[in-house]
Amino acid sequence: MSAGASQHAAAPASAEGQGAQTPQSAAGAPRLIVAVDGPSGSGKSSVCRAAARELGAAYLDTGAMYRAAAWYCLDQAIDFDDEDAVAVAVEELPLSISTDPDHQTITVGQADVTDAIRGSAVSEAVSEVATNRRARSLLVDAQRRIIDEAGFVVAEGRDITTVVAPDAPVRVLLTASAEVRLARRGLQLGGEQSAETLHRQVIARDAKDSTAVNFTEAADGVAVLDSTDLTFEETVASLVDRVRAVR
Ligand code: C5P
Repeated sequence: MSAGASQHAAAPASAEGQGAQTPQSAAGAPRLIVAVDGPSGSGKSSVCRAAARELGAAYLDTGAMYRAAAWYCLDQAIDFDDEDAVAVAVEELPLSISTDPDHQTITVGQADVTDAIRGSAVSEAVSEVATNRRARSLLVDAQRRIIDEAGFVVAEGRDITTVVAPDAPVRVLLTASAEVRLARRGLQLGGEQSAETLHRQVIARDAKDSTAVNFTEAADGVAVLDSTDLTFEETVASLVDRVRAVR
């Protein structure tokens, strides 16, 4: 897979050391990985993006990489039952993802898929990529390269604290009750989905995802941040405080 990180998607750069740029990769800037995992609707993306902005760090949404891979498989009409075909598609995936918390853009080849990867078709297919072992391994490698190049980065997903960056100095599992997660995801999707669609996109997707990685319980050394009764601002502040405490 040719996965590149760019601070601005308009100037994509390879993650393999050919010029991917973030402000934090500049000489002398602090290197610090902040690893955050959590289930659907826990608020990971918005909380991590806001925390990265406040800290002046890069931001990596690894879920967007799985989503882009699923989008590509759908675009290429890959049969999700054919595990080899899915893995080969991910191997070929020409992905570029922005690590700038203020400009989230993701492209596959020439296609800007930033919005398309949030649609129902991708949400319902993405676990097929996430549960494919070869595809996961390729995506994990690409994520490690992007994180390494960014230097100071808030990276979020399902297996960042345990697989992608288990040595990160800050490791947090962001949770919320199922009721709150369903409500948050419903709002995020515009508030017009049936209870059944929401359930499929939150509870059923998590159940399928947890067959590949465990993100429902904190691993040793991983702190739990339960946002059920916290406001968005309180949740961001809690994460930022944990980072400042180790810097
Ligand atoms: O975070 P988000 O809901 O956008 O993630 C989309 C999907 O990507 C998840 O449902 C899961 O299947 C997969 N994923 C993963 N490991 C990660 C991040 C996301 O398996 N680190």
